Amino acid sequence: MPRILIVEDEEPLSLLLRYNLEAEGYTVDVCARGDEAELLLQENQPDLLLLDWMLPGLSGIELCRRLRARSETERMPIIMLTARGEESERIRGLATGADDYVVKPFSVPELMARVRAIFRRALPEVISTMLKSGDIELDRETHRVRRTGREIHLGPTEYRLLEFLMSAPGRVYSREQLLDGVWGHDVYVDERTVDVHVGRLRKAMNKGRMKDPIRTVRGAGYAFNDQFAVG
Ligand code: CA
Repeated sequence: MPRILIVEDEEPLSLLLRYNLEAEGYTVDVCARGDEAELLLQENQPDLLLLDWMLPGLSGIELCRRLRARSETERMPIIMLTARGEESERIRGLATGADDYVVKPFSVPELMARVRAIFRRALPEVISTMLKSGDIELDRETHRVRRTGREIHLGPTEYRLLEFLMSAPGRVYSREQLLDGVWGHDVYVDERTVDVHVGRLRKAMNKGRMKDPIRTVRGAGYAFNDQFAVG
């Protein structure tokens, strides 16, 4: 799987990103200083760099400029993380050679989508756009879901919930983790909202008493049933 280096000095944010990227199967390293990241990058090149704008030691924008000036790293995919700010700053970020940027506070699902988009362009063989398990198929490009070949119509939240659960089969997520991963960490909704949407997802997926692909783990949360495809 692709390797991602996060260079971010806000620890809660780098932890959140690491958690979500690892849940999607990426190998993740984290560094909190620009100057340390520059040394790391001279020895080891990740497949994608998530680079904060304001960093101690060396700013993200200067690091980006230096990476683009070196032949080994001139094509490395870079997503800049910028504070909500002036348009001129964003344009400077892109002019420096970043492939994309997201403005803080951003939703985690949005960033995950950008990361997948970068890998689809840079490493098309690595990122599969289709998630399959048993008789369920989910197409990340068209957002279509099929079960036994028939299209299932899901609301946008149910779709994201299914995609999130299916990308890490068997992994149990608490309601809080699902809120962070599906709704975004800067959105405040009640944890019972998760139950409501899981209920709707089940209703849409299990028409005609088909096997339930979602597992409720009492006192813990929900998981995509990794035994689902087996028996
Ligand atoms: Ca910062």
